[in-house]
Amino acid sequence: MTYKSIKGTRDILPSESWKWQRVEEKIRGVMHTFNFREIRTPLFEETSLFSRSIGELTDIVSKEMYTFRDLSGESLTLRPEMTASVVRAHIQHNLREQSPLVKLYYIGPMFRQERPQAGRLRQFHQFGAEAIGSQIPSLDVEVVALAVATYEALGVKKTILRINSVGCEKCRPPYKEMLKRHLTRVRDRLSAESQRRLDVNPLRVLDSKSEEDQSAMAQIPLLKDHLCPECSAHYASVKEELAALELQYEEDGRLVRGLDYYTKTAFEILSKDLGAQDALAGGGRYDLLAEELGGKPTPGIGFAAGIERLMMVSEKQKSFLDGEEKPAIFFAALGNEAQRWAMKQALELRRRGISAELDFLSRSLKAQMREADRQQVRHVIIVGENEVKTRRATIKDMKSGEQKTVSFDEVMSLFEKTNTDK
Ligand code: AMP
Repeated sequence: MTYKSIKGTRDILPSESWKWQRVEEKIRGVMHTFNFREIRTPLFEETSLFSRSIGELTDIVSKEMYTFRDLSGESLTLRPEMTASVVRAHIQHNLREQSPLVKLYYIGPMFRQERPQAGRLRQFHQFGAEAIGSQIPSLDVEVVALAVATYEALGVKKTILRINSVGCEKCRPPYKEMLKRHLTRVRDRLSAESQRRLDVNPLRVLDSKSEEDQSAMAQIPLLKDHLCPECSAHYASVKEELAALELQYEEDGRLVRGLDYYTKTAFEILSKDLGAQDALAGGGRYDLLAEELGGKPTPGIGFAAGIERLMMVSEKQKSFLDGEEKPAIFFAALGNEAQRWAMKQALELRRRGISAELDFLSRSLKAQMREADRQQVRHVIIVGENEVKTRRATIKDMKSGEQKTVSFDEVMSLFEKTNTDK
């Protein structure tokens, strides 16, 4: 029997991992320019952290979590998202003592037992940011601008920003009742899934993609028209400030997020180049979450973005313009003595930060040259038996085909030079 990776999980092989590294570096760079600092939390937490924050009735908690008992009998869950963990850490380490506004980002794997399909995995990766400690609308705009700037820096084109307000504990409950009444009236025209949702979480019916639901809900009242004065003013400020920064957005009165803890601003970034799973990122405000998790009342806003989906769009839009970085030098050595010399030179070059490779399969010189070519190495240093005798090496520029012979002693200085010439 041979083993395979678990359904919904993927290996990221070297042919792809270099792209992930590029993307992660870019993300870190943009986060730094906005002064967000990295947080790394454990991959698993107490189950109730997620059920309390995300909400018992949400899809994630009711059917998608990887929950298990450890040997002590405690119920643990692989994190399905990061906001709960970040807010837990913020409370646990009393981060508000260090700074009233804490700006954090993360990159890492998340786990949800969803039905795997293109752009939907069971172990997937997200990057995201959380700004905790202020309720002013500018902070919402800061976080949205950060999400947008990240896609810009990554060369992703034609993203669409959609925003909405999901209200607060004052205006959402009465709206929910009104929505339920309206939806009950058109119940027979709703899809089976929406009929089920109508009972458990009517807000989620709103963002159904099904056409029958869309047409049944054509006349449904929207929360943005029933916000309390505070939420309404907040939403208006966010829109004004987005416009002032020339950040294009679309209002989407049906945008609700799949997690219960959101209040006020909710947003998504989409790409038409993604197909059915078109959401690149989603986020929003969670002013009640810290309290819900036992902390002092602390407002916050954040977003989470899927890296696999980002990769799909980048592939489609061909935004990886330059390729993987290749070794600078390949030593094609023949015989023990030459190999020993090459090992030493390679080590010296690597100490200086120059990447060097050599042969470990005792191949012929010709086969080693072919290998260097396959790996698209720029320079090959050839040390055959003759070269060892004369203590001279032949250097071949694989791009121009030029070749020259230098003494062993000269090799190092030459490459320092070549490297700075580049
Ligand atoms: P959410 O935490 O559900 O708001 O998701 C935020 C982003 O993470 C989505 O917009 C997707 O880009 C990505 N994402 C969520 N779930 C998955 C999944 N199962 N597989 C791949 N990406 C996902």
